[in-house]
Amino acid sequence: MTVQQEAPGGEALEVWIDQDLCTGDGICAQYAPEVFELDIDGLAYVKGADDALLQAAGATTPVPLPLLTDVVDSARECPGECIHVRRVSDRVEVYGPDAE
Ligand code: SF4
Repeated sequence: MTVQQEAPGGEALEVWIDQDLCTGDGICAQYAPEVFELDIDGLAYVKGADDALLQAAGATTPVPLPLLTDVVDSARECPGECIHVRRVSDRVEVYGPDAE
């Protein structure tokens, strides 16, 4: 997952999780296990290169285009409303609780 992918419209997207609001239900990890995973602490994290969990606050990972629908569905279904998908170029949220 090191190659940056572009969403329809040509914009590269990235995703991050606000663990402070995560309920640990695991919906995101079911929808897009390539991008999200629950850690031993019961909270979800995004995965970076080599499938390593990115545990720094606000850590982002690129959204691969083939997984865009799964990631967007995760953000929509997330009961904690804590999955944020944003454009890489200007960091504007396009899917998630802060999207316009
Ligand atoms: S769907 Fe949302 S609340 Fe549920 S585990 Fe994933 S990030 Fe946490």
